[in-house]
Amino acid sequence: MVTATMIAQHFEATIKDYPKMKLREIQRRCASEMHVNVTIDCCYRAKKIVKEKMAGNHKEEFGLLWDYAHKLRSKMPGNTIKMAVQRGLDIAISDILPRVEHRNCARHVFANWSRRKLWKSFECDFWQIAKCTTEREWEDLCSALEKKDKDAYDNLMKKSPKMWTRAFLGTTCKSDIVDNNLCEASNSSIVEARFKSIIKMLEDIRTKMMTRIVQKRKLCNGWKQNYGLLVKAKFDANKKDCVEWQLIWNGENGCELRKGSYQYTVNLSQRICSCRRWQIIGIPCSHTCAAMYHLWIQPDEYLHEYYHIDMYKKAYSFPMQPINGPHDWEKTVIQPVLPPIERKMLRRPKKNRRMAKDEPKKLKPGLE
Ligand SMILES: [Zn+2]
Repeated sequence: MVTATMIAQHFEATIKDYPKMKLREIQRRCASEMHVNVTIDCCYRAKKIVKEKMAGNHKEEFGLLWDYAHKLRSKMPGNTIKMAVQRGLDIAISDILPRVEHRNCARHVFANWSRRKLWKSFECDFWQIAKCTTEREWEDLCSALEKKDKDAYDNLMKKSPKMWTRAFLGTTCKSDIVDNNLCEASNSSIVEARFKSIIKMLEDIRTKMMTRIVQKRKLCNGWKQNYGLLVKAKFDANKKDCVEWQLIWNGENGCELRKGSYQYTVNLSQRICSCRRWQIIGIPCSHTCAAMYHLWIQPDEYLHEYYHIDMYKKAYSFPMQPINGPHDWEKTVIQPVLPPIERKMLRRPKKNRRMAKDEPKKLKPGLE
């Protein structure tokens, strides 16, 4: 006879690693690994036993947090390892990084904007507004939207439009990203770790970072040019597009580039193109490339140094130091941190009416 305690013992490690494991999965594994058929209820009780045990470990692990922070600090001097209490994100960012440009994620702005009504028909207009690079272009696109739907336009303008549009991005950090995809990718890489207990989670993330730095260092050995492959793809597209632009040169640093009704100016010594793409992203735009080829200059010479291999190597020049396990952590005398109180999630209310015990069951149609 297999009891819930026995199942709990057998699957303890698995459930700890995958706390979101479905009861059906436990039932299936009982059959394949323990060669017994158990009820879902039994699996539920087994999972509950493991979870209760984990909650106990939870408190223990939170108690170790100060010792862990101390160990990390001793291994990585110069790095600030802080234990912060949860606060509003905006306040925290402006506190820690007061001079850094703060952007909002356009994808989230769009989701919130379109939630009010079905703004799907405005998706194209929205991304045009988010991705245009000059103020004038931005104004034109905005007034076009205003004409199309005043209500939608007013709603959009409430969402601090200068914080998620390329036309208003600063030119210091050489990045034209208006969405949050980088953070989302990083979050998704730690999804599994996030379900684990606190120290296990932090250790998972730390070791991931450690191996990632090693991988990143190896990656640049395969580069055939002074910059990475993603940059190369963008740069190559600009170099290819440049043939379409007709050039007029002023004999010094100024060039005028024309295609149809479009016309931009490039100043090579100031590293400026009036389309602003070069300034925002640091990769010469197609207009700049056209000007450079005309003047027998290699565009690669004007790629911003942030993209150079030296800069890349510098970013990954600090390896994470290996640390010993909890048995070796020095005991600090700071009052231990307590785990947060677990909130019980409400169950979804049942839709079906509860039947009385003696009520006859309804037969399926066709079976009467
Ligand atoms: Zn340009």
